Amino acid sequence: VTAIANQVGLGLVQAQAYKSLAELNQQLAALDRTRTNLIAIIGHELRTPLSTIQVCLESLATEPEMPAPVRQEMLGTAMGDAERLHKLIQDFLTLSRLESGRVQWQTEAITLSECVELALAHLRSRADRLPQIQVDLPADLPLLRTDGEGMVEVLVKLLDNACKFTSPEGRVTVRAQVQAGQMLEVVVADTGRGIEPSQLQVVFDRFYQEEGALRRTVGGTGLGLAICRQIVAGLGGQIWAESAGRGQGSKFHFTIPLGSRPDWGDMSRPVET
Ligand code: ADP
Repeated sequence: VTAIANQVGLGLVQAQAYKSLAELNQQLAALDRTRTNLIAIIGHELRTPLSTIQVCLESLATEPEMPAPVRQEMLGTAMGDAERLHKLIQDFLTLSRLESGRVQWQTEAITLSECVELALAHLRSRADRLPQIQVDLPADLPLLRTDGEGMVEVLVKLLDNACKFTSPEGRVTVRAQVQAGQMLEVVVADTGRGIEPSQLQVVFDRFYQEEGALRRTVGGTGLGLAICRQIVAGLGGQIWAESAGRGQGSKFHFTIPLGSRPDWGDMSRPVET
């Protein structure tokens, strides 16, 4: 009886091991597919601006008779695509660093209005014509103990998008409220082109751009919201989008814990009073 029981037990262990092995193989195959897809996307995203730069430089080098305005336009196109390439590589490295989970978040005492002011100053230094931006924050918001740089980065990206996809006649609003005393919810709303309800989740995917990189008239890498999602998750919050559809404007919400998380170190700068 003992021998039979041992046999059955061994059989069960073997069956379990085969099942685990099969699952592991499936997971490895899925990872491999993701890696291949990612390489294909990156290849395409890098090759497109690089080809344009190459064509422009070749024309400039081989056509000495080219009229000055055409030459100027070619130079402008090449420079624009070089800048796009630079931004793409920068954003991609930032995202990889965030996804690796090796980012050391800092904890500092900061107010949301400080973060919004820093983000707006950054935005205004880069753009000449922005829609009206209204900051509508309750006066009694508590101090945040979080990574200020991360917060500012998320706000810059959300505000940049809100301005990009809203005409200069439109409006962008920043609001916030405390949720159940634990979390701060921040909302960046715009009156711009809106997002189809079916796309509200996928906008956070890497390289998602509604009209595709080639047809778009505004700059961007398609990595901004993926970066925001990683930062917000790293800071212990959540991010989501809301829109009633095309032409109905968009709202991006994110939450952030008010206090520092237990696994974070001491505050790096003292509370200012
Ligand atoms: P991008 O660099 O293209 O702005 P993001 O990751 O920041 O990349 O955004 C991905 C896509 O989500 C955008 O290309 C756009 O299609 C959509 N999107 C983001 N923010 C908004 C917004 N405020 N209004 C409408 N569409 C938006």
